[in-house]
Parts: sequence; structure tokens; C-alpha cells
Amino acid sequence: MKLRRILVTGGAGFLGSHICDRLVNEGHDVICVDNFFTSQKSNVAHLLGRPNFELVRHDVTHPLWLEVDEIYNAACPAAPGHYQYNPIKTMKTSVMGAINVLGMAKRCRAKVLQFSTSEVYGDPTEHPQRETYRGNVNPIGPRACYDEGKRAAETLFFDYHRSNRVNIRVVRIFNTYGPRMHPFDGRVVSNFIRQALHNEDITLYGDGTQSRSFCFVDDLVDGIIRMMNGPDTFVGPVNLGNPVEYSMKELAEQIISLTNSKSRITFKPMPEDDPRQRQPDITLARRHLGWEPRIALKDGLSRTIDYFSKLNLDHFRPPTPNF
Ligand code: NAD
Ligand code: UDP
Repeated sequence: MKLRRILVTGGAGFLGSHICDRLVNEGHDVICVDNFFTSQKSNVAHLLGRPNFELVRHDVTHPLWLEVDEIYNAACPAAPGHYQYNPIKTMKTSVMGAINVLGMAKRCRAKVLQFSTSEVYGDPTEHPQRETYRGNVNPIGPRACYDEGKRAAETLFFDYHRSNRVNIRVVRIFNTYGPRMHPFDGRVVSNFIRQALHNEDITLYGDGTQSRSFCFVDDLVDGIIRMMNGPDTFVGPVNLGNPVEYSMKELAEQIISLTNSKSRITFKPMPEDDPRQRQPDITLARRHLGWEPRIALKDGLSRTIDYFSKLNLDHFRPPTPNF
């Protein structure tokens, strides 16, 4: 395998740090760029002594001059509470971050992969969601800064591809969970596990019948790396996620049972524009990448619970008050 110089933006975050692990272990020269808005150095502390790993504190809304062969563009707050905290900054991170990495890719003739999202489908009226579905996004709602920012980033990726022949990849990631999620990110898996481990009330929004499909991080990282290394004729967008769908009530019950928790479920108001249902159609990923998830929710949750049970929460600063 040819060793490459690889930039990972948002590389200290949950997904980015797992991508860095994989690339460093393969021997590539990895530059991790992050402004630590929703993460902290501890996610990559174990890599700091490695000669082929470099950590740079930088905000991707500003240009950066590097020479690289590949770019994984993961920088962007991903949890609803975090991306809604400063929505204008979220939009800037998506759009200006995309312009900056695409400009770098054009100059360096690098390959660049965008971490897009199932949120481009909004509150979907097609179920499960195929890549051809154009979505149902409220452009002026509280989730729009993220959804429309990610949609604009996809547009920029395809325009640089068509106009400037930049070698792109776009993956649409569905809900992914696992070790190194921020304990105070407010996402459903981290919230329920943190609450269950401390025998606190489990905060179920709405009546808990809304659904999501959860992918374990190791499966997702495998899909993303396959996409980056796949043929230049398949640029995406491609859905990556686990098609097995659960209601949030089922998720809460499963986490209470796996943690032997005394927690009780309490019902909280449903957030505005919260999608009712979500499930990826992964036909394209199966066909073009030979990829499908292997880790069942119960096994992935057990590994995540194990990680959270060893965390000292005093070492984590909530990035925003929304968790
Ligand atoms: P995360 O919050 O753990 O990681 C995002 C990282 O980007 C953090 O380290 C954060 O500090 C950094 N960041 C944010 N703004 C930045 C800026 N302006 N400059 C530099 N760094 C910045 O979240 P994650 O779950 O690891 O998400 C990573 C990417 O994957 C995001 O782009 C997200 O939209 C996408 N994604 C994730 C999921 C999921 O379920 N985890 C689903 C769909 C898409
Ligand atoms: N949710 C919940 N309780 C929580 C956090 C989230 O019931 O403490 C619900 C939320 O309303 C949504 C689902 O869980 O329906 C997934 O939320 P998350 O923020 O993890 O991700 P989303 O897929 O909405 O971006």
C-alpha cells in the first residue's frame, strides 16, 4: 500500500479520532486539525507520541496551507444541541470549511471526502431513504443551520468536481455511536447511557415512538475508508449506516436493561422538526463498496457502556449547555 499524507479535519472528535487511529496504524502521515469546540485532546492523546501523527489547533472557517494527498472533512458540530448553540457558526463551518478543503484539494490535486449526513433528507417522507430522495428539510427551522449547511457543502463538492475536476467522495452518515462520543453532547445514545449509569431519569423526548437506525463506529469507519479508497468512478453520495431501526423507547429500555439501571423513563417535549423516522437504504454501499454493518446494537451498546462506565466525567467540560 502506498503511504500518503492525510489531513483529517475535526480529527479530535468522535468519528475523526477513530479515522485518525486507523490511518496512523496503517502507517500514513496524518495531520489532525481541530478547534476542540465539541471535543478535547484526550481523544487523540494516545497518538501524540507517534512519529506519523501531528495535531494542529485550527478553525476550518479560516484557510490553511498544507500539502496533502487526501482529506477527510469531518469538522462540524454534529449533535443537535451543539450545532444549534451558534447556528451561524455551524453554517460557516460547513460552507467555508468545505470551500477551504476543496480549494486545498484543487491546489494539491488531493482526494477529498465529505462527512455528510442523513439530515440532508430532513424529516423524510420516503422510507427507508435512498440516495435519490431529495429530502424534506425546513429551511428556516432550528435544524436548518446544520441540514442546509451540509446540503450546501454537498453542492460545493459536486460543483468543484464538475467544474474543477476535484476528486471527491461524499458519504451520508446515519446515526453512529460508540466510545469517544462526548458524554455531554446531548445525543440520544450518550444521554441515555450517562443517565442509566448514574441511575438518573432517562429523558425520552415526545412519546418515544420516533425511530433511528444506529451504526457502531467501527463499522462506519470501515465504510468510510472503503469509500475513500474505492474507484474514482463512484464518488457518491452514498448512505452509510445500519438499517436496523429502533424506536427511542426501545433504545431506552435496552440501555436500562444492559446497565442493570434503576433509572426510570421520563417524558420531555419533542424538539421542533425532530425527524419521525430514519433508516438508510444501503443497496449502493453493498454493491459498490462490498460494505455492510456487522455489529449488532446490543454488542455495540455493551462496548459503549463499558467505555462510559470508566470515564471520569469531571474531565469533560460540556461544550454547550444543551445536553
Ligand atoms: P464531533 O462533534 O465529535 O466531531 C466534530 C469535530 O469537529 C469536533 O472535534 C469539533 O471540535 C470539530 N470542529 C467543529 N467545528 C470546527 C471548526 N470550525 N474548525 C475545526 N474543527 C471544528 O461529532 P462526530 O459525530 O464525530 O461528527 C463528525 C462528522 O461526521 C461531522 O461532520 C458530522 O456532521 C458528521 N456526521 C456524524 C454523524 C454521527 O452520527 N456521529 C452522523 C452524520 C454525520
Ligand atoms: N432523544 C431523546 N432523548 C434524549 C436525546 C435525544 O428522546 O435525551 C431523541 C431525539 O428527540 C431524537 C432521537 O432521540 O428523536 C435521536 O436524537 P439525537 O440527538 O441523538 O440525533 P438526531 O438523529 O436527532 O440528530
